[in-house]
Amino acid sequence: SYDYLVTALGSETAYFGIPGLEEHSFVLKSVNDANRLRAHVETCIAEYSKTKNKADGTIVVGGGGLTGIELVGEYADLMPSLCLKHGVDPKEISLYCVEAAPTVLPGFPAELVERAQSSLTKRGVTFVTGTPVTKMDATTVELKDGSKIETKTMVWTGGVQGNSVVANSGIEVNRGRALVNEFLQSTSHKDVFLAGDSAVVMGPEGRPYPPTAQLAWQMGEVVGVNLAVAIRGGAMESFVPVFSGTLGSLGRKDAIGTIGGNKTQLKGLPASLMKEASNVRYLSHIKGLFALAY
Ligand code: NAD
Repeated sequence: SYDYLVTALGSETAYFGIPGLEEHSFVLKSVNDANRLRAHVETCIAEYSKTKNKADGTIVVGGGGLTGIELVGEYADLMPSLCLKHGVDPKEISLYCVEAAPTVLPGFPAELVERAQSSLTKRGVTFVTGTPVTKMDATTVELKDGSKIETKTMVWTGGVQGNSVVANSGIEVNRGRALVNEFLQSTSHKDVFLAGDSAVVMGPEGRPYPPTAQLAWQMGEVVGVNLAVAIRGGAMESFVPVFSGTLGSLGRKDAIGTIGGNKTQLKGLPASLMKEASNVRYLSHIKGLFALAY
């Protein structure tokens, strides 16, 4: 039982019913996922050095949104040192990013998409665009054009959906995400407050705002204020999202970004520095400056 409930359960990976995907792919949603993936990739490269088995030497990232692009950039940067450690020529390792839409990073300005693709292609990434993943088993990814990629490492970054605990809890939802009013209370249960990806906030044109960290953070602050108001009395704060922009890393030394609704575009060092600054700001905000020491 509760007087007030705050729900911030985040999103879940969406598999879109693609056969074999949930069973055989990796996801990247937590530090544990990242550590597991890192160890798995190292095992595969070590195995490849002995067997030259193509499935060990191939990494596929399925979905070229920001998660997929940032991840494949990390792999591109990691590969030279990992290969050196295991005595493998990096040119023998295949890194794919497979995207269903005609280009990666749908919705990003074309110039920045071009920059992302050319920067990553130079570091060994092969892009397959306009070609959805349709099936997967333990060692093969199948694409809509009938082609197959042999791999033991498929990381699925093809999208997110509302959290099923929230979707099935009985509160009012829209496509699995809780509907909230301007104060971030559930539209059906005023004693339930929601923040982040498990809620959906509709913009003025009736389109949902994207499930991003910057909005989750802002929603959390508004929920904090409104929860105190609900208990102590006073006027609740309305949630008015502030879009400071989007920054995407392309590995350690390159990045792209937009500031203030696509008006200012950044690439290269300025974008990398902004991305680093935004990480520092985020970490210090949630954990204090102490977090930066680690
Ligand atoms: P996404 O939904 O943004 O991207 C998923 C991509 O997968 C899309 O481009 C989609 O076309 C593709 N896709 C879907 N089905 C496919 C299929 N069958 N085969 C191949 N490709 C397929 O998901 P995400 O990248 O995980 O991002 C989720 C949210 O988090 C977004 O709002 C994103 O902007 C945000 N995000 C932001 C950052 C950042 O700001 N740096 C980083 C990561 C995520």
